[in-house]
Amino acid sequence: NYLAERLSAARKDAGSSLFLRNHQTGEDVTYQAFFANAERMAQALVASGVKPGDRVAVQAPKTIAMLELYVATVLAGGVFLPLNTAYTPNEITYFLTDAEPRVFVCDLAREEEFSPVAKKAGVAKVLTIGADESGSLADLRDAAAPGFNAVTRGPDDLAAILYTSGTTGRSKGAMLTHQALASNAETLKDAWHFSADDVLIHALPIFHTHGLFVATNITLMAGSSCIFMPNFDADDILDYMPQATVLMGVPTFYVRLLNSEGLTDASANMRLFVSGSAPLLTETHEHWRDVTGHAILERYGMTETNMNTSNPYDGDRRAGTVGFPLPGIEMLVTNPATGAPLPQGETGVLEVRGPNVFAGYWKMPEKTAEELRDNGFFITGDLGRMDDDGYVHIVGRQKDLIISGGYNIYPKEIELLIDALEGINESAVIGVPHPDFGEAVVAVVVVQNGAKTSAADIMTGIKDDLARFKQPKRIEFVKSLPRNAMGKVQKKALREEYDGTFK
Ligand code: ATP
Ligand code: MG
Repeated sequence: NYLAERLSAARKDAGSSLFLRNHQTGEDVTYQAFFANAERMAQALVASGVKPGDRVAVQAPKTIAMLELYVATVLAGGVFLPLNTAYTPNEITYFLTDAEPRVFVCDLAREEEFSPVAKKAGVAKVLTIGADESGSLADLRDAAAPGFNAVTRGPDDLAAILYTSGTTGRSKGAMLTHQALASNAETLKDAWHFSADDVLIHALPIFHTHGLFVATNITLMAGSSCIFMPNFDADDILDYMPQATVLMGVPTFYVRLLNSEGLTDASANMRLFVSGSAPLLTETHEHWRDVTGHAILERYGMTETNMNTSNPYDGDRRAGTVGFPLPGIEMLVTNPATGAPLPQGETGVLEVRGPNVFAGYWKMPEKTAEELRDNGFFITGDLGRMDDDGYVHIVGRQKDLIISGGYNIYPKEIELLIDALEGINESAVIGVPHPDFGEAVVAVVVVQNGAKTSAADIMTGIKDDLARFKQPKRIEFVKSLPRNAMGKVQKKALREEYDGTFK
């Protein structure tokens, strides 16, 4: 079993050493105990009918049992399919009908709600995981005999299907192979200098690639340990920092931690802060460096590819960039219309090729053919450029590009100017339908607490740096930008909200 062997490699050396510290119970789980449980859970899955290639879907609270289920599914030769805990019964119906899992594991507290949903979607077996680590899956695990012979799986077999976040449209199931997951974890472990001495603060959800694969797979591969928290809590994270070495977060983690007392002292012995899943503002990067002395390491990835680029561990971690392509991963910037590679420095679509790239979208052969080229390059849909020093800058998503009066407008250019103005907290620039221009630029702005700024002030502040056609035709003030669980600004929701502005 290609992935299981690699994820459990540290088990032998790290057998009695600590894998997880459970924040909720204070309990310490050794590598030995974790894998012993995962093996018994694998038995329970096989007894529940899971055969090689079968999907095991789960929507459950972030627990150690859910992490065991991930490893157990891999051991049993199944395909792990975690679902966002925010999804409603109707959304779950879509995912279960689409993925046809052998088993669906749901939240014990919502069993009555979800059991009929699963049955209706044709899933034969429903099991549960409770927020307190209980549930029918744990019962089956505890009743199983110890030990399990991992089912043979090769590098090209599927280990997981992860649905994308649905930022630009309906979520797509990205099929991830044993090799894609293993190679990326190995690469990141080395790039970020992970060792058995590391203690990671794990406060990310485990239904998403960031918390599941980046955080968990690296920890397992390096034989490190982690402090396992059910969710983000700034005070708790500050309390843990003196015993920890690494924090992985989305940008909102860092923004919120900066508002907490005692960050300077708490972070003194930390080794590394990693950010990703959404753009980290330059201002946050600089503020963090002032307060803690650490330069946050920003990296760029996605469900379909795991991580593609990273700022350097040794060397200059540049704010506003996502660093260099990782070893073994090629990146091209291409012309959105023709697909031809562009000269260095020009902005275009980012394409990636490497062992990390997914095997296609589940049951979407046409979508797969559109985005995955015959030569192996995946068309990410993100726009960016590579500067003279090779650092990659993400400019935004192709779907967020504004075309006004026939001109291409990159929202990021306008957002950066607005964000730099006095009294501005953050902004999101979108295109909305306009009778004359096709689309018109609208800036949605969040003002800092207590600051007094008008639309006229903003226009005065940016107009010298922006061609007329790029200047916002409307400025809207809001209390906060709509974000999902990964801190991604939901521009689709904003476009819908302001759709009628010029109609
Ligand atoms: P969908 O594909 O369903 O529209 P999504 O792209 O948001 O949703 P994910 O795979 O969770 O789903 O997110 C990947 C995207 O997140 C990338 O394509 C990129 O746009 C963005 N992203 C990730 N890391 C960064 C970063 N460091 N800076 C800017 N954007 C980032
Ligand atoms: Mg995407």
